[in-house]
Amino acid sequence: MPQCLGIKATFERCHSNAIEGGIHCRMHARHQARYDERFGPHVPGLCHFVNATGRCELEHEANELICMHHRHARERNVARRQEQERDEQEIEETYEQYMAVIPRPQWQNVIDELINRAGFPRAFPGYLRPDIAR
Ligand SMILES: [Zn+2]
Ligand SMILES: [Zn+2]
Repeated sequence: MPQCLGIKATFERCHSNAIEGGIHCRMHARHQARYDERFGPHVPGLCHFVNATGRCELEHEANELICMHHRHARERNVARRQEQERDEQEIEETYEQYMAVIPRPQWQNVIDELINRAGFPRAFPGYLRPDIAR
């Protein structure tokens, strides 16, 4: 079965199969019917991204269903998600390191060390803006 041509809000392509004889999965077919009614049908060659404000009117890239602008937005989303996952993993590891220390470190030591690692948090006395620090 062919893959649905729907584009998700994250600008990624829908991974579901298209319904029999159609080009979209059940959910996107339902959405597309409403968009067709409001904005007219999708014009071949143009970006497949559509939301409540209308269809994207830029041409899609040769090997994509979406335009360059929306591909960049998708790539930024992916990078942001990876950065967030890295941060979460680092927090988890730091937490485990502290929990492994016997006796447990005092809160003041923990704060001192976190400040050493990351600098003062914003709005904390002693905070240095990273762009003017050093
Ligand atoms: Zn779909
Ligand atoms: Zn677009």
